[in-house]
Amino acid sequence: MYLKKLEIHGFKSFADRTKIDFDHGITAIVGPNGSGKSNITEALRWALGEQSAKSLRGAKMPDVIFAGTEKRKAQNFAEVTAHFDNTGRYLDSDNKEVVVTRRLYRNGDSEFLINGKKKRLRDIHDMFLDTGLGRDSFSIISQGRIESVFSSKPEERRAIIEEAAGVLKFKTRKAETESKLKAMQDNLDRLEDIIYELS
Ligand code: ATP
Repeated sequence: MYLKKLEIHGFKSFADRTKIDFDHGITAIVGPNGSGKSNITEALRWALGEQSAKSLRGAKMPDVIFAGTEKRKAQNFAEVTAHFDNTGRYLDSDNKEVVVTRRLYRNGDSEFLINGKKKRLRDIHDMFLDTGLGRDSFSIISQGRIESVFSSKPEERRAIIEEAAGVLKFKTRKAETESKLKAMQDNLDRLEDIIYELS
């Protein structure tokens, strides 16, 4: 699985539809300060379901929509599409290519799509959990994050290693199952009380 292409339209400084192709090997993006290099990685994180406007350097989510300049009027929506090669079926999909799109309108309407079909945010998270590209994964390291890894507490560092090792998916499922078991036990206790009262 690898990122083949990113299409950015109306997201932050990318007013026009911009396509970036990523080849095998290393791609370096260079440019003057403030030219939008970080906005590219933020566009990818956003498409993959980033929910924190703060971590995208904004106050609220619509701040990611192109705000206009002296010469250009603001856009009404932001759209980012990430194309992943899936020939090795690393992602849980039968498609050779997995295409994830996120769209946000100024009125707050938003949508996620996987290969053109509307999906929930949860579906995006589930697809990328433990692939190295999931929420809070370390495939994308922004400025300042390296230092925070070094200065993190042992438990936090353990979570980082668990994500990298692919254990997080099972921990998340275990927690969900434990919560269902607890709800089931509560129901059983209530049932026993009723049986006791009736007998
Ligand atoms: P540096 O090298 O200094 O880290 P960079 O190349 O990574 O810079 P970014 O931080 O990605 O640059 O881009 C910052 C630019 O994006 C600023 O010029 C800012 O005005 C612009 N920008 C951010 N949000 C928006 C928005 N919603 N609408 C228009 N432009 C925006």
